[in-house]
Amino acid sequence: MILVDSHCHLDRIDLKPHGGSLANALNFARSRHVEHFLCIATDRGNYSEVKAIADEHANVHCTVGLHPLSEDLSTEELYDFLVAEAQADKVVAIGETGLDYFYAKDTGAAQAESFKLHIEASRAADLPLIIHTREAKQDTLDMLAGEQRDKPGVLHCFTEDWDMAKQAMDMGFYISISGIVTFRQADNVREVARQVPADRLLIETDSPYLAPVPHRGKKCEPSFVADTAEFMAELRGESVEQLAENTTRNYFELFSKISSAQ
Ligand SMILES: [Zn+2]
Ligand SMILES: [Zn+2]
Repeated sequence: MILVDSHCHLDRIDLKPHGGSLANALNFARSRHVEHFLCIATDRGNYSEVKAIADEHANVHCTVGLHPLSEDLSTEELYDFLVAEAQADKVVAIGETGLDYFYAKDTGAAQAESFKLHIEASRAADLPLIIHTREAKQDTLDMLAGEQRDKPGVLHCFTEDWDMAKQAMDMGFYISISGIVTFRQADNVREVARQVPADRLLIETDSPYLAPVPHRGKKCEPSFVADTAEFMAELRGESVEQLAENTTRNYFELFSKISSAQ
């Protein structure tokens, strides 16, 4: 069985339980069948660190992009930066980008401008988008509506309703479920996680955030995607091996640059 963590922030996870070593943290995840990791950039400041982590470790790939809550959403040279960095061997997606009105409705216009340039860059570079969307359903769908590509990207850490998931999947997007699915209050996420077709589903930790049950209160790390996978398999009435097979296959289909580079 092979699991993947399709969205983690390896530059921020707590390495203390692993003797201060990221290599140990990744090996521990491997001991729980988690063998591939997508490390997500959130601004210009951490991109070089994220890329260095991907360059240093086997089966770790990365993205380039500005999180909608980044303090530097300046769009100057942004398109050129994204398209240029998208050429690097280990950069396999553009993002995370998107709209977050839950934490920052006031910066919505700047978020949208940045989001638009990410969409254009992802088309130019022919790489999928990693979309962060929170309480911005219609605006997010409107921004993505022009996408006519096969496999345009993923809505990560999905917490919105089934209607939004369905509309996004109709445009070709994948839906990624995080450890939130294990939280007591998250009935809406469980409803989505139960219904997403096997060929559109991804799983992630979004570590160091959102540690799943039974790790609540700890800093999240990639090994915990195994706990989310077990929970999801039970929820969907399938074996964890089946869930792993589907989500891992989807990972390589969506992030096809990984396989073509090998
Ligand atoms: Zn996010
Ligand atoms: Zn993230």
